[in-house]
Order: sequence, then structure tokens, then C-alpha cells
Amino acid sequence: MAIVMKPGASEEDIKRVIRFVEENYGLRVDVSRGEFQTLLGLIGDEDRVDFDRLALLPGVEKAYRITSPYRLVSRSFFPEDRVIEVKGVKIGGGNRPVFIAGPCAIESREQIFKIAREVKEAGADILRGGAFKPRTSVHSFQGLGEEGLEHLARAGEEFGMPTVSEVRSEKHVEMVAKYVDILQIGARNMYNQDLIEEAARQKKPILIKRNFGASIEEFLSFAERAAAQGNKDIILCERGIIPVGRGRQFTRYILDLSAVPIIRGETYLPIIVDPSHGTGRRDLIYSMSKAAIAAGAHGLMIEVHYNPNEALSDGPQMITPSELKRIIDVCKRIYMLNSED
Ligand code: PEP
Ligand code: MN
Repeated sequence: MAIVMKPGASEEDIKRVIRFVEENYGLRVDVSRGEFQTLLGLIGDEDRVDFDRLALLPGVEKAYRITSPYRLVSRSFFPEDRVIEVKGVKIGGGNRPVFIAGPCAIESREQIFKIAREVKEAGADILRGGAFKPRTSVHSFQGLGEEGLEHLARAGEEFGMPTVSEVRSEKHVEMVAKYVDILQIGARNMYNQDLIEEAARQKKPILIKRNFGASIEEFLSFAERAAAQGNKDIILCERGIIPVGRGRQFTRYILDLSAVPIIRGETYLPIIVDPSHGTGRRDLIYSMSKAAIAAGAHGLMIEVHYNPNEALSDGPQMITPSELKRIIDVCKRIYMLNSED
């Protein structure tokens, strides 16, 4: 449900509506302040809510029901694109696409510093690197844990890039948040509501990757969980879905680029694309990056290593810094073309 306050509504009017909803229905209220008007969103089961009574409270312009399972993040609730600013880097809205680059996993201090320097020179805005890797096999490299995050944070400072890393478990959320600027929820954890809620409570932007089996409605419904914690600095990431039958013959996943314009229509949150996990093949990163930006993605997340063949994880999908530069340059040109539309 959405309650639209009149342009001249006072703080007291807003507080009165919030008190009314809390006391009569036991629901929480989300407050979104636009340039001219304030919107209130109810969180919880609104079956018992009397819309007509609410509409009569002073300062209320209208009150209406939104039936979608995601409301707080829905464009029908709040029409303006959200721009998320992290240490001067702007993600979303009409800003040029952001480029998040770095290795799949942080392997050593030397490795992340060398990659940070090279991706920065190639034009990357944000540095990525996994420290708690979600691996299928317990025998694979699991990441350096907290030590890796320390290296990532130092490299980000040294080369002037905000950082992002995955938080795989609820028990690590506070610790990971001490080191990184953006908390990543991996595709496997998109359905982990406790992890998403705890991450959202850290008051830092979070990046949620779409689970490979999730519908767009489910994806946005789990973003809604973060928003319901009062944190709307949410970056969505399309990273490929499970192919059916022999669809898996040539690529690791099927990169669902149609999700980009659909998600832009459904929500005001920024949506980026990860062509690395989405294809699993370095020879496809260039074309899929161009296609993602042409489709309207607000950015890309790309795995980069100076020596992909020696990488401890995801070598086959990693590209070199010079390939990254070629991608960033062409994507900036495509973005300019898009903005002429
Ligand atoms: C990653 O970005 O490091 C990662 C593991 O991706 P995903 O969660 O999309 O598989
Ligand atoms: Mn990876």
C-alpha cells in the first residue's frame, strides 16, 4: 500500500499517519522523500487496513493498494531512478555505466594490488574480489577470508576505488562490512532472507545477484526484503540463469539480457550485468558486455586477471586488463548512443 502525502504536508502530518498505522494495524512504515512529496509504504500484511480512513487524515493526498509482492522497490510506488553514490562513484539513473572489475578471488596481496592498478588504468570504477568464495567442492580454493578483505581494502584505498566483496554467511556480515564499501549477496544466497536483511542493516549499499533459477518477481521480492530494512541502496545484478536440456552445451549459464529492460521498467533500482559468470567464457565477454549496455544496464561486473590461466578460480571466464579496457571504451560509446535515443 502507498500513502501519498500532499506537497505541503508537515512533519507532524507525516508522523501522525505513521503513528496511526503502527497503533491500529501493527504495521511498519517506510518513508520515501521525493523532491516535492513524501510517500509512505506499509510493510506487512495490509488486509485489515481501512484505506478510506487513512485518506481522511490531515496531509494525506491519497492512499491506494499496490498488490505486487515488491512495492517499496517498485517504480509504480516511486517513479524516479535511484542513484547510489559510493565514494564519488554514481550508480544508476542517467549516469554513465559503472565498471566493476577484479579477480574472481583475492589470491594474495600482490595479486590484488597488481590487478587493482591495471583495472584502474583500464578505466574501472569499482574493485571486486572474493574472499569467501561459494565453491561447489570443498577441495577447491575457498578464498583467503578476512585476510583477503584486508588486502582488498588496502588496494581499493591505494588506487582510489570503492570495493565490493561477497558475504556468504550471516555470521560474517558485520566483519565484511568493516572492510568493503558494497556488500555482495551471491546468486546462491539470493533466497537467504536472514542474510539479505542483516546485510541491509549495515547501512552500506548491497549488490544482490539473481539466483540462476529465480524469476524476476522472486529477484525483486528479495530486494524488497532489503528495502524493508530501510536500505534502498540496492544494486541488482543479472548473472545468468540455468539453461534447460542441452542449452548448457556451449555456455555455463544463459545470460538473460531481456531481464535488463524488464527490471528497469519494474523498479527504480539500478541493474548491472555480470557477463563473466553469465557465460563462463572469456571469448564472449566483449559481445555480451556491449549487448548489456545496449539493453540499458547501469554497469557491468567483469572478472579480470593478468594471467587468467593461473587463476585459482574461474580462469576460463577471466579476461586480461587490456581486454577490459577495450570493453570499457566501446561500452562508453554505446552508452552515448543510448542516451541519444
Ligand atoms: C562472484 O561474483 O564472485 C560469484 C560467485 O558470482 P555468482 O554468485 O553470480 O555465482
Ligand atoms: Mn567467479
